[in-house]
Amino acid sequence: MTLDAAEKYFYNAPMSLTLSVLASSSAANAIFVASDTTAVLIDAGLSLRQIESRLAALSVAPASLAGVCLSHEHSDHILGVPALHRRHGVPIYANAGTIEGARRVWKDFQPRCRIFETGRPFVIGDLTIEPFAVPHDAYDPVGFIIRAGMARIGIATDIGMPTTLVRERLRGCQAVVIESNHDERLLLESRRPWALKQRILGRQGHLSNRHAAEMIAEIAGPHLCRVVLAHVSAECNEPSLAKSEILERLRACGCGNVEIAVAADAPGERWRFPPLEPVVLPVEMTEP
Ligand SMILES: [Zn+2]
Ligand SMILES: [Zn+2]
Repeated sequence: MTLDAAEKYFYNAPMSLTLSVLASSSAANAIFVASDTTAVLIDAGLSLRQIESRLAALSVAPASLAGVCLSHEHSDHILGVPALHRRHGVPIYANAGTIEGARRVWKDFQPRCRIFETGRPFVIGDLTIEPFAVPHDAYDPVGFIIRAGMARIGIATDIGMPTTLVRERLRGCQAVVIESNHDERLLLESRRPWALKQRILGRQGHLSNRHAAEMIAEIAGPHLCRVVLAHVSAECNEPSLAKSEILERLRACGCGNVEIAVAADAPGERWRFPPLEPVVLPVEMTEP
């Protein structure tokens, strides 16, 4: 007798990950990622009030967060951390460079942080988190791979250029949150000071639509279900432009069925990976 579908599902139920972008822009960034038992934030650049209300929309209590992991010390990623830690006791995870930079921003807030090393995976509850180096003008900026069972999500915002390491880490993810900061023409035509344009375009600045599209096309494959475009500039980009550039590249490489969302377009939306479908057991696991 073989196991029926329900039993197969029970014995081989996949662990899934939930992803929701609470905020993503040059002003504030916070991304919610959770397994069935462990929830974390990647960055917390919003005010405490905003974090609380956006988590409430997902029916998540802030005190239930097992940690906030910091990508780097720029204020749009860390501004809400002191209040989140003081009010709700949420543990702070960051590498030593980010903590050093953040302490200068936080001034009188000098918390005890849990220090991770860039390139070395660590565990929070049933989440495995892999911080990897990204090029950006901060002390020790990182992107994150978050894994639970077979589910794997990649997050890389604030990256000046696509690197081999970033591509390597993002490959194999079901969902990728990737920066698509600006359209190069719109940035050059904007009224921003020349020095700022140079910084954004530089190798340690922010990723353009073109570079994001090239990178996504290189890492796409049958596993990739969703791309979320993040840190989209309000002044130097258009969500439709960013989306169409990525879609065009994905179609060209035969991956046109990947879902694409622009983070700012979809606040409070949540996605679950992998899709909750019964898993077919290998033949050798059937009962006699
Ligand atoms: Zn940023
Ligand atoms: Zn930054």
